Amino acid sequence: MADFKEVYYQLLDAFGPQGWWPIDGKYIAGDYSKPASESQMLEICIGAILTQNTNWSNVEKALEGLKNARLFTLKHLSAVSEKKLSALIRSSGYFRQKAKKLKLFAAHLLKYDSLTSFFNHPTKVVREELLSIWGIGPETADSMLLYAGKHPIFVIDAYTKRIMSRIGVCEQDVDYHALQGEFHKYLDADVEKFNEFHALLVELAKRNCTKSNPSCSTCPLNQSCERIGV
Ligand code: SF4
Repeated sequence: MADFKEVYYQLLDAFGPQGWWPIDGKYIAGDYSKPASESQMLEICIGAILTQNTNWSNVEKALEGLKNARLFTLKHLSAVSEKKLSALIRSSGYFRQKAKKLKLFAAHLLKYDSLTSFFNHPTKVVREELLSIWGIGPETADSMLLYAGKHPIFVIDAYTKRIMSRIGVCEQDVDYHALQGEFHKYLDADVEKFNEFHALLVELAKRNCTKSNPSCSTCPLNQSCERIGV
């Protein structure tokens, strides 16, 4: 089976740091200081909901709309009408559902003094609470935990499943938590590394390990991949 650490360093050597999570549309490679404020934390949480089933460029337009409408606080998000919110985030797709999700998320988190105090609770507690909110599944909750709350938890997505199954770590339909458990087993619980590794896997999936016709000849993992060309 592929060595998780080796895969990480091969990707890092090939692509360099990715600068996730983008704030204000900027990716700053190797900067792990974000989020540095409540508003940046909220931007990541909103982005994690809006990016469900769409690409990031559509999310950026929606984030800009929300900022221009001065809705970037939990209080404002929970108070705005679903209709107005839907219109503002239309570009992100599934906008009615996502407006409802954003409002429920904001209303739920309002009981805390701040997002900082919410994320200061133990990982298990924060995760269970996030998962109890309608519309927040494991991938969204873990994205918030890792990128907004800086908890050492690995985010699994369809790209991760695709790549890890092709290099021989798991089956394509692997269970979310089973694959997450493998990352936690073979890597140290390191927020910066988890941040970077997930971003690198997304980059690989876009550049080389595409759904059909992967570009294996230029893939940084092609020496160790078990299923070149699938
Ligand atoms: S060698 Fe091909 S199948 Fe394997 S990870 Fe790279 S792009 Fe994907």
